[in-house]
Amino acid sequence: MTKERAITIARGDGIGPEIMDATLKILEHAGAKIQPEFIDIGEKIYLSGNSSGIPDEAWDSLRRTKVFFKGPITTPQGGGYKSLNVTIRKTLGLYANVRPNVSYAPFVETKHPNMDLVIIRENEEDLYAGIEHQQTPEVVQCLKLITRPGSEKIVRYAFEYAKKNNRKKVTCFTKDNIMKLTDGLFHKVFREVAEEYPEIETEHWIIDIGMAKIADTPQDFDVIVMPNLYGDIASDVAAQITGSVGLAGSANIGDQVAMFEAIHGSAPDIAGKGIANPSGLINGAIMMLVHIGQPEVATRIHNAWLKTLEDGIHTGDIAKGASSVGTMAFAEAVIERLGQKPSTYTPVEYKQVEQTEDTAFHLSPAVKDRPKQDVVRELDGVDVFLFNNELTPDEIGQKLEELAGPEFKLAVITNRGVKVYPQGFPETFTTDHWRCRFECMENQGGNSNKEIIELLNRIHQADLETIKTENLYKFNGERGYSLGQGQ
Ligand code: NAD
Repeated sequence: MTKERAITIARGDGIGPEIMDATLKILEHAGAKIQPEFIDIGEKIYLSGNSSGIPDEAWDSLRRTKVFFKGPITTPQGGGYKSLNVTIRKTLGLYANVRPNVSYAPFVETKHPNMDLVIIRENEEDLYAGIEHQQTPEVVQCLKLITRPGSEKIVRYAFEYAKKNNRKKVTCFTKDNIMKLTDGLFHKVFREVAEEYPEIETEHWIIDIGMAKIADTPQDFDVIVMPNLYGDIASDVAAQITGSVGLAGSANIGDQVAMFEAIHGSAPDIAGKGIANPSGLINGAIMMLVHIGQPEVATRIHNAWLKTLEDGIHTGDIAKGASSVGTMAFAEAVIERLGQKPSTYTPVEYKQVEQTEDTAFHLSPAVKDRPKQDVVRELDGVDVFLFNNELTPDEIGQKLEELAGPEFKLAVITNRGVKVYPQGFPETFTTDHWRCRFECMENQGGNSNKEIIELLNRIHQADLETIKTENLYKFNGERGYSLGQGQ
């Protein structure tokens, strides 16, 4: 007999408590073996003065149970409140966001009746590393961090997901025609990992045309893996075009902990009315049941839920003018149908997934135990970023040529990535933020941090203001930095 599994549950804000109670009632009647530990997070906690929205005892429960079933949370308006979802994902290392997007025609109106795709979004890196700076009065920056282990974990997760769920194709979206190093690495890792799964078809699209294809012909996709920001946008577009954002659930998976929820928010406009659709949270619960090794319960609930939709029992967001039922009445209709299968929709059948001690998806040993790569790293130069709103590009260039010394040569000055020295165009718009690239002179000893510091000192003595530097490296003889436009 399946042992009861301890689960941490947050009812959430707005419609959260209503849809959570309805969903838990279905789980109980379906025979889910779970032992809930309820925690308080979200609006109430934020407003009590805790800017993270989650108290210490909630973390204790999450680290103990390792499974989190979460209702939607309201982030109060105004400054200072950190996004709880981002905090939970990053703190617990939930690197994979999994969002199935399925259309339910003919019972739920949609322009895309044959859609059944899963978006697997990297959850921790990219522009969401949250490293932003204002560097000059006119310029702010956000660092986009893509790592090899982070990319490998998510791409491997996508292929393993495809294999376990009998999916045929994995597509990768990046923008590596522009971001050749960051998105280029993600794409490269995708190609490398794909070789280990010859039975799965693979393809890659540049994100812009890829998104257009999702919006136009979503039925052409199966599993899609992508970096964080693209995944955030693509998964909302995909959910919307299935016909309703109220239907989809999502999983956030880490090596140790996993979190399951609906994709929608706390819908304050309909909170307390008893009319919210609990389907998104029900679908989150189904993913959770598969994850904790109760696939037969997941199967019963999923089939009963499909049958309920087929029988025309819909909440107001789906009913579109026809008569509708409330949250609890919908849940009761699902409960009545437990044990039944849909006749128009294809019935589902979940299989037991491989279990390890802590988690159902322990995928990262290959990443953790990866061999230390033998990389030869050579300093090749330095980009010195200056703040200047007085001198012309030629004036800065001439000063820096004199300061470069025998160790370095001033190669180029760019403004917003565009060459302005030597021989810039007068038409180029410039701000107060100048990137000055110095290359090491061979055999002149410019290839150490000591020489860079001395260069910075000379620049400082000449009354130019350095705001940051980036060292330029070659890795195994290959340039590890992009060229400036026009360089
Ligand atoms: P929302 O998803 O809460 O609501 C958007 C629209 O969809 C509203 O008209 C709402 O009534 C409707 N809707 C959403 N879920 C529904 C359901 N289950 N049944 C019927 N109708 C439903 O998005 P929002 O209004 O932008 O955000 C409200 C709050 O939710 C904000 O504080 C936001 O920060 C938060 N939020 C939380 C999460 C989360 O916890 N995962 C996700 C998104 C937004």
